[in-house]
Amino acid sequence: MNYTQNEKIMSITEKTLVVGVDIAKERGGVNMTMPIYWKNSLNDIESIVGSVAKGRANLLCHSAGGRDVYLVEYGKKNNINRMANYSSATGAKDPKRYADKSGENYVPTVLLVGAIHGGEMEGIVGILNLISLMETEVDLAGIPNHELLDATRDINLILIPCLNPDGRARVPFDSFVGKDLKTARHYFQGTWKDGSLCDWPDCKAIHPILGHVDFLGSYFNDDGINFMHDNFFAPMAKETRALFDVCDEWVPDITILLHGGSNTSPCLLQPRYVPVYMNNIVYDLSTNIKKAADKKGYIDMFRIIDVPTDRGEYPPVSFNLTSACSHVNGEVCITFESNQGLAEDNRHTPDEIYAAHMILFEETFSFVKNKRDPI
Ligand SMILES: [Zn+2]
Repeated sequence: MNYTQNEKIMSITEKTLVVGVDIAKERGGVNMTMPIYWKNSLNDIESIVGSVAKGRANLLCHSAGGRDVYLVEYGKKNNINRMANYSSATGAKDPKRYADKSGENYVPTVLLVGAIHGGEMEGIVGILNLISLMETEVDLAGIPNHELLDATRDINLILIPCLNPDGRARVPFDSFVGKDLKTARHYFQGTWKDGSLCDWPDCKAIHPILGHVDFLGSYFNDDGINFMHDNFFAPMAKETRALFDVCDEWVPDITILLHGGSNTSPCLLQPRYVPVYMNNIVYDLSTNIKKAADKKGYIDMFRIIDVPTDRGEYPPVSFNLTSACSHVNGEVCITFESNQGLAEDNRHTPDEIYAAHMILFEETFSFVKNKRDPI
């Protein structure tokens, strides 16, 4: 552990460790009691989305496997007076022709997307607890978070708790906390026909991967598509198309794709193939998050990723879903990498993983209210 916790957080988290889920019988598991707020199964999603009353809960689309993908909205769409698509508007040297956000009544908008990779359920936990806060003023453990709730005032909040329910359905437990890396790799990327791990990044070498695997990992929908690497000019997956539609209709000022990155120190990955002013925004937001985490006692928990430079290396980095969302609407889209608490070095506890998401959300909501277009 490379950071400390303050007493305030300890006093809150102690109260949350009440009801647990015994996952000891699961493959690669250890005895692990998960906190009461740690909810992320498909049943949990359906039940919590079904309880939405202050916002609007809609069916966004059906997955390749016919499962429901939900969209939860708080707020009202801005009138952005669209006259052109984004490419054409920038061609006219006037992005306002795509989305005019200069009106006095403009309300900043944030889109959060969980489980693009179905087994990376930490983001689902964060979003479901955020929905609980919005609806009941307490999280799923019954604990208030006034700072976060205050930060949600005066913004539009658009939530997709789980973009990839097909992948989520293939993971038989609710957490990778305490699991070994091999088990995680099995469930994340799956296994080839000879039983060997598809692993990362080799799992991307065949796409769609369906038909080439013994066990289809939770990265993929039931058609074997990894949304992060869909064909963005002709989306293969309905889920990808539906996400683009949300990005285009709402033009969120910030979109965050919530991922789990094994035992990484949580961070905002810098988007690639976007204008540098967007990378600078991501850097500034990262700095705010790190400061806030440090202030809450999570010293050096967050990592700040520098603005990338293209030095002409080959092969190039991939143009992925994060890049694509930015090019749909000309706004900032970011991949957040959470720690997953694997039984490896730099293992975070469920409370730390949860706190990282709450800090990320609060700082993003506060940041977006002050975000301005570059001059
Ligand atoms: Zn991921």
